[in-house]
Amino acid sequence: MPNALSSSQPDTSHPIPSHDLLIIGGGPAGISAGVYAARKLLKTAIISQEIGGQSTVSEGIENWIGTVKISGNDLAKSLKAHLNAYKGDLVSVHEGETVEKLTRTQGGFTATTKSGKSMSARAVLIASGASRRKLTIPGADTFEHKGLTYCASCDGPLFAGQDVAVVGAGNAGFETALQLLAYAKSVTLISRGATFRADPVTVQKASEHSNMRILTQTDPVEVIGEKFVTGLIVRNSVSNEATTLPVTGIFVEIGVVPNTDFVEGLVELDTIKRVVTDPRNQRARLVSEIQTPEKDSDARHGNDVEGAVHPSTVTETSGTRNNADESFSGVWAAGDCTDELYHQNNIAAGDAVKALEDIYIWLKKQ
Ligand SMILES: Cc1cc2nc3c(=O)[nH]c(=O)nc-3n(C[C@H](O)[C@H](O)[C@H](O)COP(=O)(O)OP(=O)(O)OC[C@H]3O[C@@H](n4cnc5c(N)ncnc54)[C@H](O)[C@@H]3O)c2cc1C
Repeated sequence: MPNALSSSQPDTSHPIPSHDLLIIGGGPAGISAGVYAARKLLKTAIISQEIGGQSTVSEGIENWIGTVKISGNDLAKSLKAHLNAYKGDLVSVHEGETVEKLTRTQGGFTATTKSGKSMSARAVLIASGASRRKLTIPGADTFEHKGLTYCASCDGPLFAGQDVAVVGAGNAGFETALQLLAYAKSVTLISRGATFRADPVTVQKASEHSNMRILTQTDPVEVIGEKFVTGLIVRNSVSNEATTLPVTGIFVEIGVVPNTDFVEGLVELDTIKRVVTDPRNQRARLVSEIQTPEKDSDARHGNDVEGAVHPSTVTETSGTRNNADESFSGVWAAGDCTDELYHQNNIAAGDAVKALEDIYIWLKKQ
C-alpha cells in the first residue's frame, strides 16, 4: 500500500469522498463554519476533541460581539446549541475524536483519528486552533501538576489563601491573575518585557488589587520544590539579579502553539507551523502545489524588490487561489491555527465564515 500519509499526492486506494466538507476543530472557527455549512446544505463532518475551544476555561469573555459578558463554559454551550439548531441530518459531529493525519485521497481528503476512524470529503477546513506553550525552564516538567499548572480555572481554587505567581503578561496572563486574585493571598505576575501585551483595561483591573504585584523585565529561571512547588527563581534582565519568590502555585500563560502536526508535509506551514492562508478567502496550499516556493511565497506576502510590506497586502499577482483557479485542491484554514496576525474568538469565527463562503462556491463549481 502506498505511504499516502506523508505525501500530498492523492492515494487512489480510497473510495470517493463520503462528505462535501470535513471541519477539523470545534472552537469558534469550527462551529461557525459548521453553522454556515448546515445552512448551505453541505454534507459535513465536524471532527473535534471537544466543542468550545480555548476560551472555554475563561471566567468571563467581554468581547464576544452581541453578548456583553459570557463565561467560557456558557460560550461553549451556546456554540453547541447554535450548531444543533441548524445541523439537521447533513452535519455530523464527532466529538472526542483527535485527527492524527490528514491525507490527500481520491477526489479529496481523508482524516484519520486516534481511535482509528477515517472520514473523507472533497474539501477540508482546518480549524484546529492552538494549545498552551509549555514553560521549558528547569523544574517545570518535574512540578507540572504539582503546583505548576496551565489552567487557572481548573486548578486555581486549590491555591486559596496562598502566594502564587503567573508567568506571562498577555491577556491570558492578566485574566489568570484576575481570577486568582479573588482567592489567593497574593499574585505576582512575571513580565518578560517592560510593557504588556494585554488590553489596558484588563491590566488596570488587575493592578487595582492590593495583593497584586507585577515584576517587569523579569524572566523565570527555575521552579523549585520538594514534593510540590515551594518557589520560583526569577532574574531581572536589567540588573541580572536573581530572587526566589516563595510561591506554592505557578500559573503559566506564555502563549500558544498551533495544532497542525496532522497536516505537516501536506499543507504549507510557516516557520512556527501555522497554516499559511490567503487572507481574502482563507485558502491554504498543498505542499505539492507550491511551484517555486521562494518566489511564490514572496509574491503571496506582497514582497517586491523595494522591500517587505505588511502580509495582508497580498496582491493580485499572488492570486493563484481565486475561484477561477482550477488547480486549487480544496483545503482552507481559519482561526488560531493560521498565520492570521490577530487571534480572537470573533476573528476565528469571521475567518471561518469567509472560508465557508469560498468553500461553497468552490464545491458548486466542481
Ligand atoms: C484563557 C484564554 C482566554 C481567552 N479570552 C479571550 C477573550 O476574552 N476574547 C477573545 O476574543 N479571545 C480570547 N481568547 C482567544 C480565543 O480563545 C481564541 O482566539 C479562539 O478560541 C480561537 O478559536 P479557534 O476555533 O481558531 O481555535 P480553538 O478555540 O483553539 O479551537 C480548536 C478546536 O480544535 C480542536 N482540535 C485541536 N486539534 C485537534 C485535532 N488534532 N483533532 C480534532 N480536534 C482538534 C480542539 O479540541 C478545539 O475544539 C482566549 C484564550 C485563552 C486561552
